[in-house]
Amino acid sequence: APPSPPPETVIFRSRLPDIPISNHLPLHTYCFEKLSDFADNPCLISGTSGRVYTFAETHLLSRRTAAGLSSLGIKQGDVILLLLQNCPEFAFAFMGTSFLGAAATAANPFCTPAEIHKQFKTSGAKLIITHSIFVDKLQTGTTVITVDDPPPEKSCLPFTVLSDANESELAELNSISPDDTVALPFSSGTTGLPKGVMLTHRSMITSIAQQVDGENPNLFLKSDDVVLCVLPLFHIFSLNFTLLCSLRSGAAVVTMPKFEIEAMLRLIQKHKVTATAVVPPLVLALAKSPLLESFDLNSIRIVLSGAAPLGKELQTALCRRLPHAVFGQGYGMTEAGPVISMCPAFAKQPTEAKSVSCGTVVRNAELKVIDTESGFSLGRNNPGEICIRGAQIMKGYMNDPEATLAIIDVEGWLHTGDVGYVDDDDEIYIVDRVKELIKFKGFQVPPAELEALLLSHPFIADAAVVPQNDEVAGEVPVAFIVQSKDTELTEETVKEFIAKQVVFYKRLHKVYFVHAIPKSPSGKILRKELRSRLANASSLS
Ligand code: AMP
Repeated sequence: APPSPPPETVIFRSRLPDIPISNHLPLHTYCFEKLSDFADNPCLISGTSGRVYTFAETHLLSRRTAAGLSSLGIKQGDVILLLLQNCPEFAFAFMGTSFLGAAATAANPFCTPAEIHKQFKTSGAKLIITHSIFVDKLQTGTTVITVDDPPPEKSCLPFTVLSDANESELAELNSISPDDTVALPFSSGTTGLPKGVMLTHRSMITSIAQQVDGENPNLFLKSDDVVLCVLPLFHIFSLNFTLLCSLRSGAAVVTMPKFEIEAMLRLIQKHKVTATAVVPPLVLALAKSPLLESFDLNSIRIVLSGAAPLGKELQTALCRRLPHAVFGQGYGMTEAGPVISMCPAFAKQPTEAKSVSCGTVVRNAELKVIDTESGFSLGRNNPGEICIRGAQIMKGYMNDPEATLAIIDVEGWLHTGDVGYVDDDDEIYIVDRVKELIKFKGFQVPPAELEALLLSHPFIADAAVVPQNDEVAGEVPVAFIVQSKDTELTEETVKEFIAKQVVFYKRLHKVYFVHAIPKSPSGKILRKELRSRLANASSLS
């Protein structure tokens, strides 16, 4: 019989109507568009010093930062590297680069010198803004600006070269195109090594508008909200949702340099925080900590979890501890701009989101689910690979058209590598992943990066790294190793060899010595087989 024709594509959309989105503007113009409505309201509050910057001051300092960067030679199209923990200067620097038509790539300051240098080189960054404690990680010969007092013996510039610059010298740029890159986060996507994800002015504005613009009775953020920024701004989820959506909506942002439960609860109480974005391990900490009883947390109205799957029990446990708060999940991916779905914006009460659902697809976007084997479109309640299309997705990977083509098809669909389904109420459930990516507490661990490091060891003939489920971290990376002939390796040596070279969340948690790595005829590692060996621990030697 002739093969049956492919089924018609089933496209899922938000129940909210599409809205006009001003995504022809530069990102800074869009974010500060309603500035006059809340110019004197608090915009950024440093969780460490308590210093408050109003919207007008934030706008001014962003423009000054742009003027300062310009006087240091940064031009339209250039890239700068932000190696910062959450602090108000992150916002000035990010918005400042936007004013210049330049782009910012942000990295985790706890990365190793080699990891930082790699991102610096790959992104073609011209300058680094960081804290003085991280300066030792940087190679000499680079222009480095520190947001705190620069170490005296180093040739760094203080942040005042930016924040005290003369903004009147900043030329209005009419040449910024909506398709110019403004943010360049790094992500390994569905396969391989981390790559620069080109998020344009258009994609960032579209993503923000999908969340906070338009006639939506359940706007996630409003001008009287106070948002706690505890997730790192170097990850796009926090940059997009916490910082940029707040700027657009007129909400205040309290920056917290790193998660620590007591400090977090104290800040919530002190600043009457109303909303915060979290990741599942943080939900776990909040759900379990006895400290919650000692603080007044009644101001909280929204807790949004994202970046990794969240279990039902955990969600229920936190809801019980914060009965005044609405708890929702967001699902996203750096390449997708990043937000794909959020706890249902159309519901009368966001609490109506069913447990463990990732909400519904954002508006002004299309979502489809395809069979992972045939690629054919699937209907409701059938798990398959989630694909997303819309102006919010990335332009592509920097200098890597091949990798871009592998993830965005000719019809403009971004293939997420996530397996999920859409139920009868349009709610999305993520059930598995067909991509290589491992997520440790929401942080990306690209197996290809660890495999390349392992293969550089003289005693390792072959290696594969896969995720193992973990109660606290969600997943941890574990390695399967084939030793070279006549060599003696121990699990500890391998673990140490990797630990020296990577940031803490990429460390190996277990090493299994095997005779061969299972591979397909074309040489691809059969990761699924290794994962099922882990699930069935007795088959491991
Ligand atoms: P990143 O690019 O670092 O944001 O990682 C994106 C990936 O994280 C997605 O493709 C998913 O695999 C995973 N992820 C993000 N949010 C969720 C969620 N709410 N539930 C399950 N997985 C998620």
